[in-house]
Amino acid sequence: MRVLIDMNRCESYGQCVYAAGAVFAFRGRESLEYDRVPPGHTWADVRRAASACPVGAIRLGEAPEDGVCR
Ligand code: SF4
Repeated sequence: MRVLIDMNRCESYGQCVYAAGAVFAFRGRESLEYDRVPPGHTWADVRRAASACPVGAIRLGEAPEDGVCR
């Protein structure tokens, strides 16, 4: 799984942090950080986070075969 957040849409509501705290976290008040290729055991939570995002900013896709995001 590969995760991409459209930061032009993100309003820092934090629903993703509540749903998948192992993958999404705030640094400071509004700076969202996240694991772009999260481990398999977090995928259910990441899908919940994507569903919970009120502005639909979280996009999920396939991870590249070599595991390296470009
Ligand atoms: S739930 Fe959506 S809007 Fe809220 S911080 Fe996460 S990505 Fe941004």
